[in-house]
Amino acid sequence: MTHAFDSTILRDYDIRGIVGQTLSAIDARHVGLAFGTKVRRAGGRVVCVGWDGRLSSPELVAALVEGLTGTGCDVRRIGCGPSPMLYFAAKLREADGAVMVTGSHNPADHNGFKLVLGDQPFFGPDIADLARLAAAGDFERGEGKVIDDTVTDEYVRQLADGYDGKRALTVAWDCGNGATGEVLAELVRELPGRHIVLFGVVDGRFPNHHPDPCEARNLRHLRDAVQFERADLGIAFDGDGDRIGVIDNEGGIVSADQLLVILAEDVLKDHPGAPIIADVKASKVVFDEIARMGGQPVMGRAGHSPIKALTAQLKAPLAGETSGHVFFADRWYGFDDALYAAVRLLGLVARWDRETLARRRERLPRLVTTPEMRFACGEDRKFQVVAEVKSRLDVAGATVNAIDGVRVDTADGWWLLRASNTQGALVARCEGASVDGLKRLRAALTAQLAASGIAAPLS
Ligand SMILES: [Zn+2]
Repeated sequence: MTHAFDSTILRDYDIRGIVGQTLSAIDARHVGLAFGTKVRRAGGRVVCVGWDGRLSSPELVAALVEGLTGTGCDVRRIGCGPSPMLYFAAKLREADGAVMVTGSHNPADHNGFKLVLGDQPFFGPDIADLARLAAAGDFERGEGKVIDDTVTDEYVRQLADGYDGKRALTVAWDCGNGATGEVLAELVRELPGRHIVLFGVVDGRFPNHHPDPCEARNLRHLRDAVQFERADLGIAFDGDGDRIGVIDNEGGIVSADQLLVILAEDVLKDHPGAPIIADVKASKVVFDEIARMGGQPVMGRAGHSPIKALTAQLKAPLAGETSGHVFFADRWYGFDDALYAAVRLLGLVARWDRETLARRRERLPRLVTTPEMRFACGEDRKFQVVAEVKSRLDVAGATVNAIDGVRVDTADGWWLLRASNTQGALVARCEGASVDGLKRLRAALTAQLAASGIAAPLS
């Protein structure tokens, strides 16, 4: 029994496709068979399974569980909830693996799988390995058991225990009808203060707005609620609760970079000199501020899986990723959990006497940046272009960090060029101290791209 996945669904950090087009229940069963085989061959047996509120999730879960048990794995069905609750369940139950069925922040007809084997995120070559096992029909055989096993009460209790604020806050929340709704309803009952929850009903059609807090337009309702309720802050979650968006008390968006600095200041009080990780796309402000506050700034490869792996490797108490994944290993488990990050932020804000989130944000240094720019470039060529740019820069004696693409420091600031993880494109960003400096950075980037035959940006 062999199976070929649609090649577009095997991504760097997860498996994700469009249900009925590139992703079906047959794929889900083979993910179960192949992943179960990996668990069994690593000496394990117990796999926790969770899912988000998408309409296609129950069918995919049923097929996934059939595949897993067919390899002899015992499955604990954790239920519908955020991805971090599944990761929490896997820790609590000392499971050998975990699979989350989720389309994260993507449109309603998308769905997919996030995988954890042992204590490690499962990505890159691990995902390619699943495809190899499926193509060869090389599966373990057995008959596993299935039990329903909710951990919601325990998860909410531990989240609420993490709150360390002094005064009661007014907080607006936006679940975007994603998988965080039910857990959040229980959590706000445990927290002091006044809580206004928008779109807390889990609805896989996402009738109000797209559950992606990276996009400013998805934060509109939350900003209005913060201003109308005169709230201390607003918190938004993506569809599966592993990414956070934050609105300050005046309705301004707190970027993921700014949030990381604000959280780092607090964490570094208990862990002076500790490594704090941000990804290669992050603002220079993040690294400079962490160093200024006595931390050890570390730049990691882009993407939540590499950042999670690096967090564990360096035993960093805190890490953040530009799209809003926040990883706390300080008093938490080191996985990306937007609910826990929210509780810690609330605690921090509620310990300030005269500070507000808007004022704290305004005190951060301001640089000028371009948005993320994309340049069309064939899959077969994109890594080559980055290599060409790097070798020309090396010859020129430029200051280059090549951890992921090229990040070039100049007197004006920096620019970054990477091969996209998800499409035939190059991705770039520049950040400078002044508008003129930014122009020079952009010109340097454009010249390098032109020298490799890459023309104007896609967007
Ligand atoms: Zn997500």
